[in-house]
Amino acid sequence: MNEKEICASSCSGCAACMSICPKSAITMQENEKGFLYPVIDDKACIDCKLCMKTCNTKPDKSEIKNTYLLKIKDHVQHMISQSGGAFSAVSDIILNEQGIIFGVKYDDEYEAEFGMASNIFERDLMHGLKYMQAKVNYTYRDVENALKTRKVLFVGTPCQVGGLKKYLKNRNVSENNLVTVDIVCHGVPSVLIWRQILKEAKSNVGDIKQVICRDELSTGWGDSLSSFYGRSKYSTKHFIRIFGSNLALRESCYKCEYTTLERCGDITIADAWGVEKLDSDFLDSRGVSLLLINTQKGAEILQKMKDSVELKLVDINNYAQKNMTEPSTPHRNIDEFWSDYETKDFSYIIRKYAENNLLLNYKYIIKRGIKAICKRK
Ligand SMILES: Cc1cc2nc3c(=O)[nH]c(=O)nc-3n(C[C@H](O)[C@H](O)[C@H](O)COP(=O)(O)OP(=O)(O)OC[C@H]3O[C@@H](n4cnc5c(N)ncnc54)[C@H](O)[C@@H]3O)c2cc1C
Repeated sequence: MNEKEICASSCSGCAACMSICPKSAITMQENEKGFLYPVIDDKACIDCKLCMKTCNTKPDKSEIKNTYLLKIKDHVQHMISQSGGAFSAVSDIILNEQGIIFGVKYDDEYEAEFGMASNIFERDLMHGLKYMQAKVNYTYRDVENALKTRKVLFVGTPCQVGGLKKYLKNRNVSENNLVTVDIVCHGVPSVLIWRQILKEAKSNVGDIKQVICRDELSTGWGDSLSSFYGRSKYSTKHFIRIFGSNLALRESCYKCEYTTLERCGDITIADAWGVEKLDSDFLDSRGVSLLLINTQKGAEILQKMKDSVELKLVDINNYAQKNMTEPSTPHRNIDEFWSDYETKDFSYIIRKYAENNLLLNYKYIIKRGIKAICKRK
């Protein structure tokens, strides 16, 4: 199998190819921008092409049936959740039925990776956003094993839910015991930026004991502060500013095929942005979730969790964010950003791209002006 065939620019890094390979001939390795891509060991590859077949499999998608605002009633769960506690409410149902949860936690280096949880303590490690692509490792194989005996909840970005479904389809595994939740996703930024920010934090507070990627306890729901706790606390807006400006997202995110109102999860969760204007009676400073019920399985879960949450039926047309209908738009200075990243200090990157965005806009305005004058001539 030719490595290039499998490493197209549309590769989302879902790792379905690595997971399906009968010879474990594929590994996910970081490219120069910090994103994981499949690399094939030619000596181990038997050219069965199962990786390509799996990659090209279309995961089932469903139209949204109903849309709700959601707040979990349990105060502690609400506080430790990123938004309204939708993940807690759904995962409680699966744990009550002795099921197992697959979601994203931090590894020892404070990078995101999938893990599993069969009790509340393990599940609570999955709370909180990690704005980076979580390492899937061999999670899909673990899901397959767990499905033989238990209910399974898998929560991930749409491409990861899609990756799992592609894998299970090609392994002929029944999805009867599986519930999937996809999170509305803006795209994943490079882990290289996160590592630099961590380094900066360590130089300020020493060994890091806790990280909150989007720290709302300090400033309020939706704020873009990241906090790092060591011998003291260090907070910065730089990471989320670079993430939000679309300078350093994975290439495939700019043409993501999952940014549609047809969803690959039984349930979709998001932040209910706009609730303060549209349904101010439901606003809560701890955060409000948007919950999309996409399948009959999703509707059954909703029925079971009704007592533990406050719900309000709303119109998806009022709450559909850009990333539910189209991919994030690439920033016009992506090439300049990566060239600067390779050649300059990180402090320069911060000054130019996270603090002093005016500089970028200034150059852009001049360029546009010159182009317009040339056109007229
Ligand atoms: C990369 C990324 C981009 C996002 N973009 C948007 C967006 O554009 N619009 C929007 O409304 N919301 C976005 N979200 C946020 C998402 O909608 C919230 O995570 C969700 O609402 C969870 O709220 P909760 O209260 O249930 O959270 P919590 O109870 O805190 O649970 C967090 C959940 O998110 C999962 N998770 C955390 N980090 C990751 C990760 N890196 N990869 C996969 N799963 C992860 C955890 O497994 C857990 O299930 C994004 C999240 C991520 C990770």
